[in-house]
Amino acid sequence: MAEERADCKRHKWIPLLGIDKERSVPTALFTCLRCGDLKVGTHTIKISRYRLDMGELPMNSIASINLMNEPSVNATASGLVITAAVGTNAEGIGAPLFMAANGNLNTASAVSSATTPCVALAMETGTGSKKVLLHGVLRLDAWNWTTGPGTNGLIYVSTTTGLLTQAQPSGTDEVIQPIGWALSDDCIYFTPSMMYLTHV
Ligand SMILES: [Zn+2]
Repeated sequence: MAEERADCKRHKWIPLLGIDKERSVPTALFTCLRCGDLKVGTHTIKISRYRLDMGELPMNSIASINLMNEPSVNATASGLVITAAVGTNAEGIGAPLFMAANGNLNTASAVSSATTPCVALAMETGTGSKKVLLHGVLRLDAWNWTTGPGTNGLIYVSTTTGLLTQAQPSGTDEVIQPIGWALSDDCIYFTPSMMYLTHV
């Protein structure tokens, strides 16, 4: 993933000093002599040049979380991303995924309700433990979406396995599930509808 940079593998932590009664004393704030990362205590919040690592601790009382309306790097996302078990992935990054009975996320197809609804988009190629987007903005320069009102800007699961489309599926038993809308030719706002129609 391009937005994640390589971590320093050999942190050498030293405590920052504070002044107490005119004496220098070590504080609970540490910095790495090699990379400059900061951390509070031993297993808690880490701050690097590239990210804030909360170590599964909560962030409380946040006024807003701002997403990028167009990620600056191709094939990256801004939003809610988790690591999940991906069973099949026919089309790589941006492929719609549905949850199979065994809990794997597999490549979705609008051919029938057996391979929908789409609940996530692949953020990595291949299968296994992979990052997937649950909600947010994804940029893929290979896309060429049309923006606009009505059904123009909406994006659906395609009947071609692993693809998205702006042409509403129209065959018998095919699934019509809006999964988001086009922010630009290369970007979608992925907000999958959990309500879908099966074509008669
Ligand atoms: Zn380091």
